[in-house]
Amino acid sequence: MAKRNNFTPALISWYRKNARDLPWRRTGDPYKIWISEVMLQQTTVNAVIPYYGRWLKSFPDVQTVARAPLQKILRTWQGLGYYQRARNIHKAAKVLVKEFAGQIPSNQEAMRRLPGFGPYTRGAVLSIAFNQREPIIDANVRRVVMRQLALEGQATPTHDPEILKFLDQVMPMKNMSFFNQGLMELGALICRPRQPLCLACPVKETCVAYSKGIQEIIPTPKKSIVKDIHAVVAVIEKNGKIFLQRRPPNGLFADLWEFPGGKIEEGESPRQAIIREVREELGQDVVAAKHLVTVQHLYTQFRVKLEAWQCQLKTDAVEDGTHKWLRLDQLRKYPMPSGSARIVDHLTLDN
Ligand code: SF4
Repeated sequence: MAKRNNFTPALISWYRKNARDLPWRRTGDPYKIWISEVMLQQTTVNAVIPYYGRWLKSFPDVQTVARAPLQKILRTWQGLGYYQRARNIHKAAKVLVKEFAGQIPSNQEAMRRLPGFGPYTRGAVLSIAFNQREPIIDANVRRVVMRQLALEGQATPTHDPEILKFLDQVMPMKNMSFFNQGLMELGALICRPRQPLCLACPVKETCVAYSKGIQEIIPTPKKSIVKDIHAVVAVIEKNGKIFLQRRPPNGLFADLWEFPGGKIEEGESPRQAIIREVREELGQDVVAAKHLVTVQHLYTQFRVKLEAWQCQLKTDAVEDGTHKWLRLDQLRKYPMPSGSARIVDHLTLDN
């Protein structure tokens, strides 16, 4: 236990010296910290940096988020994935303007009324922006503490009660911002998923996994299951305009725009698939189809090979609330899944 008393000062002092200089660490603004923490969920620091900068340029405060149309929010988020996060930021900003004068509240109870403010986001904003004694558990923290306590098994929330108990024993009364960021930074830089750098670790003295030499197998490595999807999409052009459709408001890539199309079924050729998909989705007959380009994109749970086919229809596709004819330069203004965006890149390069 005496050793455990060293955990917190050692961690904070290490963080002060080794913290990376990241854009969201140069501010105390709760709004900016909130945005960075939501972006960082499920996404790496390097991937987030350009998005964070662009977001703040478009939406410097809660009010600008609340006023913006959802499509602009999704377009600015495009490429970060997990679009529900962006939709929740938009909804929460509206509640903040309506009920909290555009300010992020500094207590749990009020925060619970904000869409998307789950335990992680509440803990992160309260500790980092307001220095409150609130724990946070993300993948890095979970791994560090599982190793500190030598908790065996996969890194799942089943361990969280024990992790929270540990955190409650070591959380400081002040400097919570540095403490929580320090734990996450330690997980990112030193206590890495593979080959942790234990010799350089400021808290190795308290680490049970290290003392037993089992740090490499805690947590138990996950088997990654990535599904392969082969799909076709129709690029339908008329008078310099391209036909796009909006996805339904629920489910995968909700409300994003895409080319009509879908998965190739077993035994089908890509040409047969595109003819079938256009008939099913638009009720139209394809009279000519030519392969344009194939792009590949890796999403979190699947890898997609997307073939774009230039299609001519027997009769014109019709616009309505969820279908539009758009000029090439307009396409980029519409939020899309990354695979479709890469096809747009291809189309605009060719013109
Ligand atoms: S000693 Fe090694 S396993 Fe333990 S917390 Fe430090 S880096 Fe992680």
